[in-house]
Amino acid sequence: MKKPVVDEELCIGCGVCAEICPDVFEIIDEKSHVIGPQGCANCDCEEAEASCPVDAIELVEQ
Ligand code: SF4
Repeated sequence: MKKPVVDEELCIGCGVCAEICPDVFEIIDEKSHVIGPQGCANCDCEEAEASCPVDAIELVEQ
């Protein structure tokens, strides 16, 4: 199972990832934070990764 990592330097806080996977990503201080890396089992983290407008999300092997 892969887990998402957010590059906070790139993130613009648009909220798309948190809309797709609210149990995984949360916007705090205008940056996305991974609050539930195991939550990808219940949502489509690959869609979140693909939907990020600045390509700030990476899925890495645990
Ligand atoms: S989709 Fe990308 S830019 Fe938007 S909040 Fe998530 S990580 Fe940040």
